[in-house]
Amino acid sequence: MRKAHETVLEIDLNALEHNYRFLKSQLRPETKFLAVVKAFAYGSDAPRIAQKLETLGVDYFAVAYVSEGIALRKAGITLPILVLHPLPVHFESLIDNCLEPSLYSPKVLRDFLEVAQKKNQKNYPVHIKFNTGLNRLGFWENDVDFITETLNEREEIKVVSIFSHLAASEDLKEAPFTYRQIEIFEKIAEEVTEKLKHAPFKHLLNTSGIINYRNAQYDMVRSGIGLYGFGNDRIVDADLRPVVTLKTVISQIHKIEPGETVGYNRAFTSTEYRKTATLPIGHADGIGRQYGKGKTFVHVKGQLALIIGNVCMDMIMIDVTGIDCAAGDEVIIFGENPTAESFAASANTISYELLTGISQRVKRQYMGR
Ligand SMILES: *Cc1c(COP(=O)(O)O)cnc(C)c1O
Repeated sequence: MRKAHETVLEIDLNALEHNYRFLKSQLRPETKFLAVVKAFAYGSDAPRIAQKLETLGVDYFAVAYVSEGIALRKAGITLPILVLHPLPVHFESLIDNCLEPSLYSPKVLRDFLEVAQKKNQKNYPVHIKFNTGLNRLGFWENDVDFITETLNEREEIKVVSIFSHLAASEDLKEAPFTYRQIEIFEKIAEEVTEKLKHAPFKHLLNTSGIINYRNAQYDMVRSGIGLYGFGNDRIVDADLRPVVTLKTVISQIHKIEPGETVGYNRAFTSTEYRKTATLPIGHADGIGRQYGKGKTFVHVKGQLALIIGNVCMDMIMIDVTGIDCAAGDEVIIFGENPTAESFAASANTISYELLTGISQRVKRQYMGR
């Protein structure tokens, strides 16, 4: 690891490779692997991550929005890219960039057909998303006849796959609900396959699904968080390696007298002599205000230092009393230790939110290739 002289997000491509190989090892060899690289590849760097994964042999990519797919095409990604949540206003540029839409409602299907017809498409690849209990996006089971009749009539588009998304794959207390989702999905898939003139492939599992419900891997799985090093579970985490490390550096040390306060709104009052360090990272970089006021630790020279007072836009202050450190020393916000998962948990949130919130102001740096 290189020593940080400013705030950097270090991206370890070897860790990414390790995680990909681990997740693959949990699957049947013939199961296709879709890598989810939405939201800047969970806050890291989608083009670099996707380039690496393409060389490792993933089969598919997914992003949330069309603009994210276009960024991947611009970076030279040639694999198919599924757009999970395309909006009709972007259907033309979706087609122009050879992206594959998830169609999730009768309106979206009709809107897409209209654009595909206008652009003289034939057998344009699309994916049909079914709602089996998450109640977020997706056709309902009773839309099957409408979908299959429409598709059998029209040749502008062709269904490559049908899929659904689990609501609580990481929570084994919800296993009965998950098995119910699996059952509903299988029933829908059977019906669609019977009524269409061809058999689309099927996929359901996200990262925790791969771990907990691998019998439902079907033809492909869709993994995001696992690739970046987290499995929503301590035991699984032990087999994965965090891809990103957020580091920064001490800008200034202060000696605080008893009764003095630190930061905006005087949110921290010192009861004794304390040594504090000011760091060049704040809520504009993705460390939100929920991490302030003595809830969250960072690491300085292998020792724990508490974030004190309010998080500012561009800075945080930490308590380094008793730690032998000076301006210029490196600070680990999260990485191997503390992990993004435990850092996030200290403020009652999850690694997904913390990682995707790391802003574009933070410089990206790479390890491995
Ligand atoms: C984000 C997303 C995934 C990836 O989930 P992870 O828990 O990060 O593996 C898979 N499928 C859909 C539909 C998603 O929106």
